Amino acid sequence: MGVLVCFHAHPDDEVFITGGVIRQASDAGHRVVLVTATDGALGEVPDGLLAPGESLARRRLAELEASAAALGVHRVVPLHYRDSGMAGTDDNTHPDAFCNVDVEVAAGRLAEVLTAENADVVTIYDENGGYGHPDHIQVHRVGVRATELAGVERVYEAAVNRDHMKRMIAANPAWSDGAQPPDVDALGLPEDQITTVVDVTGHVEAKRAAMVAHATQVGDFGPFLELPGKLLAAAFGTEWFRRRGVPDGTSESALAL
Ligand SMILES: [Zn+2]
Repeated sequence: MGVLVCFHAHPDDEVFITGGVIRQASDAGHRVVLVTATDGALGEVPDGLLAPGESLARRRLAELEASAAALGVHRVVPLHYRDSGMAGTDDNTHPDAFCNVDVEVAAGRLAEVLTAENADVVTIYDENGGYGHPDHIQVHRVGVRATELAGVERVYEAAVNRDHMKRMIAANPAWSDGAQPPDVDALGLPEDQITTVVDVTGHVEAKRAAMVAHATQVGDFGPFLELPGKLLAAAFGTEWFRRRGVPDGTSESALAL
């Protein structure tokens, strides 16, 4: 059996783009380790959800544990870096923000986990972090370096399939009616760069349960939780990756665990 390590920026990122492959790997008997870089302390939270004196970071750690359990993760490793906030905000400049920490030092910490776990496959993000969030870009940098340090060769960049997003938007009557569709040109990777397309339709309910676990992030998840099964499967039933270091034209339907 293999060991899959998924490296993510914030609590909840594990669900959208890797929740299916995590559940699939766990169900197949592989060991799955989730490493989350930041505490997510700058996420938005609906009024009244936190108890008096309770910090968002503390609540999100509990949510992360519950989400990980829903996905069959065996071990969660929070690295407790400071959330850098959305691109362009003042929080980006804080010296302790994850986006500003020394890549070599952070990579050393992740490499220790990879070595101790004897990781076979690691997931990170593409160089734009999917959508330009400074913490996601830093996950790419730190992840690339850590896998070099630990000698892990099977490295996958979890990515949004930009062309799939465009097709979904084009097929949605709300947007073809003339309303302004979201601009996805800076999002994810074009389809021709994706090497690995994993059908996770059978794990959509586990992903939904993991979304529910992140109750403070309902602002992000809420609209998806309302979706009927068929639409949820269309939105979350496939996960896409670009495997690093493989020849052009590589085409896989599973992570090489
Ligand atoms: Zn994130």
